[in-house]
Amino acid sequence: MSWVEKVTIVVGMVLFMECFAWGTHKYVMHGRLGWGWHRSHHEPHDHKVEKNDLYAAVFSVVVTAMFTVGIWYPRIWWAALGITVYGLIYLFVHDMLVHQRFGFRWVPKRGYAKRLLQAHRLHHAVKGREGTVSHGFLFAPSPARLKAQLRAIDERAKADAQ
Ligand SMILES: [Zn+2]
Ligand SMILES: [Zn+2]
Repeated sequence: MSWVEKVTIVVGMVLFMECFAWGTHKYVMHGRLGWGWHRSHHEPHDHKVEKNDLYAAVFSVVVTAMFTVGIWYPRIWWAALGITVYGLIYLFVHDMLVHQRFGFRWVPKRGYAKRLLQAHRLHHAVKGREGTVSHGFLFAPSPARLKAQLRAIDERAKADAQ
């Protein structure tokens, strides 16, 4: 395998994982099926771990299996590395930057880091399973757009209730 191919697989997997994480977060974790685990992440608490961390545990099992199979199939090994890179970025952006886990405290004042923080905080603006916005982690829409989406969802809910 050439280096071009290896880098393409890793970068491609990082992009794919963002789409995959978006879809899983929106339709599984906020769906009836996955809310049981994800709910713990949307409720205030002072525990060090959440039931929601089980998703990360499931991903690590899958990635470990891929690295093992990858001993014989190099493309799978490099794909597993791409998922690991995504996992580390996710850990930093979501767990550390946004939720300040592991004692990490940094509030970015400008740039994309600030936008990432705002976008995910707006995801947490809604307490329940339904009516949430911004389900991606690395792709952050502008806060103004997300707030408009939240307002629209809110108005629709009010109209439905009447
Ligand atoms: Zn969520
Ligand atoms: Zn979160």
